[in-house]
Amino acid sequence: MKKIGVFTSGGDAPGMNAAVRAVVRTCIYNNIEAYGIYEGYKGLIEGKIKQLTSKDVSNIIQRGGTILKSARCKEFHTKEGRQQAFDNIKKFELDGIVAIGGDGTFTGAAIFNKEFNIPFIGIPGTIDNDLFGTDNTIGYDTALNTVVEAVDKIRDTANSHNRLFLIEVMGRDAGFLALRSGIGVGAEAILIPETQTYINELVKKLDDDTKNHKESMIVIVAEGDDAGGAYEVAEKIKEHCPNYDSRVTVLGHIQRGGSPSVADRVLASQLGNAAVNSLINNKTNVMVGIINKEVAFTPFQKAIKHNQKLNTDLLGLAEVLSC
Ligand code: ATP
Repeated sequence: MKKIGVFTSGGDAPGMNAAVRAVVRTCIYNNIEAYGIYEGYKGLIEGKIKQLTSKDVSNIIQRGGTILKSARCKEFHTKEGRQQAFDNIKKFELDGIVAIGGDGTFTGAAIFNKEFNIPFIGIPGTIDNDLFGTDNTIGYDTALNTVVEAVDKIRDTANSHNRLFLIEVMGRDAGFLALRSGIGVGAEAILIPETQTYINELVKKLDDDTKNHKESMIVIVAEGDDAGGAYEVAEKIKEHCPNYDSRVTVLGHIQRGGSPSVADRVLASQLGNAAVNSLINNKTNVMVGIINKEVAFTPFQKAIKHNQKLNTDLLGLAEVLSC
């Protein structure tokens, strides 16, 4: 390995910069030139590639977003687009690529690797935590803390008015963020895509809470819940029980931003370092993660299959603790 390229792709996640820094510095430590590829696969196709020095990545470990920018790139879905990406990899003489992103990014990497045999290694960077092969993805912990901080504030106003709040958090296909943040804020109910939502049961729970003189009720709704987003759930509750004076808050993109937590900075630093070491040791076409405090490698195909198990026991815990 003489030259390694690194890019960030898909949705940005806090801690991506810490991972880029770790990749660049580990390269330099091993006398390898590091190249930043800007805007993910788009930059690979358009040749937006620039050598990065140690100084280029100084003072970024604490910054949210990604200095390399991110993009969703349709052209990479086509053979012609991938051919152009390959031509640029050859032009810049890159011997290996580190891709920081989510399941779409790794799907693209696996296809590309099969076609052109370019060594790729993936680092899980997404707030959704929906990748198999790592306990946590980069950005998940920070997003959890962001949600908890926001909901704590909403709880103050909800308590003052004895109100029911439905709060929508990110998670089109996965309920990790909703479930864990729901426990963290002491939610009265948590609705996630992995389990079926019965509105009549939810209304019964809220009725019981009202009878128990709860001063406020918080329901966390993952955006991909089968009953719909928070607005739809609010409508359905109203159909069952017109008396409820509910309010809806959609947290939205606030969940992606902000300075990464210590946990995300450390995770990103470990994974960035491990990714470069893996390329040096000819271990490619895998995602690097941390399982039980140990570095672990998972083939792309396995990492993206949504095998990551959600601890549904936590739903029972939420019910017990919100009685
Ligand atoms: P997040 O989980 O935060 O959304 P992601 O990596 O899943 O991140 P996507 O937008 O799904 O984000 O994927 C990132 C990019 O990967 C896409 O814009 C596209 O360029 C590439 N990609 C995704 N799926 C494929 C595919 N089937 N073939 C080729 N490229 C793909």
